[in-house]
Amino acid sequence: MPDLHTLLQNNRDWADSISAHDPEFFRKLANQQSPQYLWIGCSDSRVPANQITGLAPGEVFVHRNVANIVVETDFNLLAVLQYAVDVLKVRHIILCGHYGCGGVQAALENFRHGMIDNWLSSIRALRRIHHLELDALAPDDAADRLCELNVLAQARHIAHTTIVEDAWERGQEIHIHSWIYRLDNGIITPLAPPIHQSIESLPVGTVPPAVDEFPDSA
Ligand code: ZN
Repeated sequence: MPDLHTLLQNNRDWADSISAHDPEFFRKLANQQSPQYLWIGCSDSRVPANQITGLAPGEVFVHRNVANIVVETDFNLLAVLQYAVDVLKVRHIILCGHYGCGGVQAALENFRHGMIDNWLSSIRALRRIHHLELDALAPDDAADRLCELNVLAQARHIAHTTIVEDAWERGQEIHIHSWIYRLDNGIITPLAPPIHQSIESLPVGTVPPAVDEFPDSA
C-alpha cells in the first residue's frame, strides 16, 4: 500500500505529464466545466468512474454512494442531479452498479450490519418484491441478479424525480442509462435501453431485457 508521500508525488507526476501533453489543460479546466455525463455509482473503491470509462477531468460529473441508491429524499443526490440537469445540462445520466456489491450483499443477509441497514432498505424491498425469482437461484446468482434489479430500479427512480420530469417537460434531451460493471473483468454492460422520456405509463416492475446499447459500434 503506497504511503501519503507517494500519493502526493504521484499527483505531481500526473500533473506534469498532463501539462507536457497540453500546457493549457489545467488553465482551461479551471475556468469552466461542461461535462456531458452525470455518473451515479457505488462508493466502492474498485469502480472509479473516470478510470473505467477513459474520461478526463472535466468530462464527467460524479455522485457516488453505497450501492448506487437514488432516494427522492436524499438532498445530497438531488442537489447533484439538479445542478447536472439544470446548470451543466448533461445529456446522459449513467446509473452504474456493479456485480459483487457489498451493499447489495448486505441487503440479502438476515442479520444487522448497523446504520447501513437503513440506507439499504430500498434494496431489501426489491429483494422482497422479486423473492420468487431470487429464491430459485443459487446464492451467488441471486446476489448478481439483485445487483441488476437494483440498477434498473434506481435508474427508474432518477426518471421519477421532479428534476428530470420537468426537464423532459421543457423539451430538454436527457438519456438515463442502466449499466453494470463486472469487477473480475472490468467490463461494463448496459442492462436496458436508455430511458429518454417519462416512464409514468410503464407498468411497475417492468424489467426490459439486456440490450446492446451501441449495436453499430461493435
Ligand atoms: Zn458496491
